[in-house]
Amino acid sequence: MIPKPKRKSKSKREPNPQKQQRIVDPEAIEAARRDYCVFCGYTGGKRSVHHIRTKGAGHDDTPDNLICLCISCHSKAHSGQIPKKELVWFLELDQKRRGI
Ligand SMILES: [Zn+2]
Ligand SMILES: [Zn+2]
Repeated sequence: MIPKPKRKSKSKREPNPQKQQRIVDPEAIEAARRDYCVFCGYTGGKRSVHHIRTKGAGHDDTPDNLICLCISCHSKAHSGQIPKKELVWFLELDQKRRGI
């Protein structure tokens, strides 16, 4: 007799009470998209929306946490070559320019 293989339940999701729920808002991400890089002004190539705050309760899809960056600036933002406070500064400048 060969015993039947037991089925493994691999997707056992348990809520993590320590993790704060982040704000998810696809509309805010769409609204943050620009046809230029907010940091360097580059209009060529691809751009993506970057989350400025990623730690703690961060990574929220809120207008003050989303900045549209070109590939180059985006990788710099992730490697720490562009400090977060500078991203915030440029984001504020962009919002002022747009009259928000
Ligand atoms: Zn750029
Ligand atoms: Zn990013």
